[in-house]
Amino acid sequence: MKTIWCFVLMLFGLGAAQAAELKIASLHPLLSEMARNIGGEAVEVVDLFPANGDLHSFAPGSKQMAAAANADMLLACGKGIEPYLAELAESMPEDTVILGLGRDIPNVYLPNSRRADPHWWNTPENMKRASRTLLATLSQLAPAQQATFTAGQKKYAATMDALTRKARLQFSRIPQNRRYLVTGHAAMCHFCEEFGFTPITIHGISKESEGDTATLAALLNDLRAKDVRCIFTEVGASPKILEVIAEQLGVPTAPLVLDGVFPGQQSYEKLFMHNVNTISKHLK
Ligand SMILES: [Zn+2]
Repeated sequence: MKTIWCFVLMLFGLGAAQAAELKIASLHPLLSEMARNIGGEAVEVVDLFPANGDLHSFAPGSKQMAAAANADMLLACGKGIEPYLAELAESMPEDTVILGLGRDIPNVYLPNSRRADPHWWNTPENMKRASRTLLATLSQLAPAQQATFTAGQKKYAATMDALTRKARLQFSRIPQNRRYLVTGHAAMCHFCEEFGFTPITIHGISKESEGDTATLAALLNDLRAKDVRCIFTEVGASPKILEVIAEQLGVPTAPLVLDGVFPGQQSYEKLFMHNVNTISKHLK
């Protein structure tokens, strides 16, 4: 009987719980996680990104738009990774705050290129920077909750700092001459700059383009001249050309998480440490 009453009281408690102060619609699961960490119970986060989505081809449809209705804030990565963002913003109510969290993060350019790598989330330091931007915006929208937001951001930043330290420790065992990060699409420039690697990419920023054979031959020559120990493929992307290159060089392939999204989404900590452990294992 006692148990039943406890259950009833619990239900009552849940029913009477205060509605979250801010509704946040998020275009990337890692940003959703950040918003939940900083906002706590003061925010309701709605994920717009589908479980099996591809970051480079996704665009919100009517289902996502319905889920985002009445959101106080739309959280995006920014830096051009959401080409539909301006159009999406137009279709939302005027008072919805559109926040591209890459806004305050310095650009890192692709090697020999003027194109900036939009994959800023691949370093915990950038996630920490983004969390400060989010803290400032949330505090403006709901000043009464500032203490909650500040405490959440402080904890989040400490987690990111711990990840940076772990990564640095592991990477300190990799000799300088093996610090080449060969990936399919150009997604690790921020990571490489932060942790002292040289990025080499087979495609451009998107995943689809395949290099022509002349480019491939030149690339193979270039890779043969370097101490390349592994070709890093991507969880969820077709690695055919990367397998060919690895075979030609006689080195293994290993998958990284480049876009921060994949089916059965895991925490930032797990995704980042997967990358750190995989790189460390193959290059040290
Ligand atoms: Zn990407």
